[in-house]
Amino acid sequence: MTTIIDGNEIADRIRAEVSACTETLAASDVRPGLATVLMSDDGASETYVSMKQQACEETGIDGFHHEIDPDEPAAVLYDRIDELNADPTVHGILVQMPVPDHVDKREVLARIDPRKDVDGFHPENVGRLVAGNARFKPCTPHGVQKILAAEGIETEGKDAVVVGRSDIVGKPMANLLVQYGEGGNATTTVCHSRTRNLAEKTRNADILVAAAGVPEMIDGDMIQEGATVIDVGINRVEADTEKGYELVGDVDFESCRETAGAITPVPGGVGPLTIAMLLYNTVKAASHQSGVAVELP
Ligand code: NAD
Repeated sequence: MTTIIDGNEIADRIRAEVSACTETLAASDVRPGLATVLMSDDGASETYVSMKQQACEETGIDGFHHEIDPDEPAAVLYDRIDELNADPTVHGILVQMPVPDHVDKREVLARIDPRKDVDGFHPENVGRLVAGNARFKPCTPHGVQKILAAEGIETEGKDAVVVGRSDIVGKPMANLLVQYGEGGNATTTVCHSRTRNLAEKTRNADILVAAAGVPEMIDGDMIQEGATVIDVGINRVEADTEKGYELVGDVDFESCRETAGAITPVPGGVGPLTIAMLLYNTVKAASHQSGVAVELP
């Protein structure tokens, strides 16, 4: 019997834990603050940022939203980051990607104070993650780890295959899976657009994480009987709906659901965890910066 993993339920539990932490902080007059910065007209980015802001409100975190016209020079964004770095009411800073082409993405990531880098993309934080001493684990791969833990899916000694090698999902996911300790110790293969014989690799996976951004590319013939299939993909495909599109993952859910031992749906799988882990990192940042201890699991 295949387990359909309920990401919303797992995320709700984490959000309740985050709320308990914000209460602990409030008792010491600390209110965690998250600044989001949007420099884009992209509809999906606007939706993601507003979902993050709403989640802050629901968990006792102050949300500060900043919008910068995408036609402004890059310096406007850099200056805003400097201001937020210096603002003591802001514990976490998130610049929603993508930024316009005339903005240097690497400069943006490196400019955010690493202690406020709740996305975990600053080079210092990437280095710490690889070294096994993470300050902030990137939200989506951390959410995948939380899903595996919540479902009692052991990673130690397992063959894990990550499809995708982006800086925000694939690479940090693979890095987490190979670390020593809980949620790690997996034998991890990273596949990408230049991988030959992809199905041969994915069929070997006890745990398959699909993060390629290609709609329904993983089908039932590409997975092993009983595999845990985690679908990170969120792809808009044209459909006869009110919005004119629907969201599908990188996994062909219907063809995989019989073979998989456990599988995440899209939507309602990994997505809710990404937001929950952002709240988690913001509370962690506020705790570090204020010196008030909280108990984050
Ligand atoms: P990306 O485009 O930056 O990276 C995609 C990666 O997949 C690349 O490394 C590429 O080499 C690889 N790839 C592309 N086509 C491939 C193919 N045919 N075979 C094998 N590998 C292939 O994307 P990303 O930012 O890592 O996001 C991946 C997907 O996850 C997207 O659908 C995105 O919307 C989604 N996403 C979801 C969440 C969430 O919260 N659930 C968060 C971030 C991203």
